Amino acid sequence: MIRLTTENTQKAVAKCKQLKPRVKFIKDRLFVVYSSNNSNVYHVSFEVKDGEKFGKCECKASEKGLVCYHLVAGATANIYRQSLKLAK
Ligand SMILES: [Zn+2]
Repeated sequence: MIRLTTENTQKAVAKCKQLKPRVKFIKDRLFVVYSSNNSNVYHVSFEVKDGEKFGKCECKASEKGLVCYHLVAGATANIYRQSLKLAK
């Protein structure tokens, strides 16, 4: 799991806005992100520990401990879902 901070997600956020990958909700905090430039599909999952956000993706960048745009895409969808829940 990679700890998500404002600093280490910045580049990925920019890339995510550019590529706009499709995200599909699977179940609580688990998402599938469809790559924009090839047919790859990545499972992305999230965790919150002591108020810190953590994320994990299946791609090579994530294996190296980097925040990829799949994580950001999933995180955005996750935050959206959480806010819907809170709104109810
Ligand atoms: Zn990834």
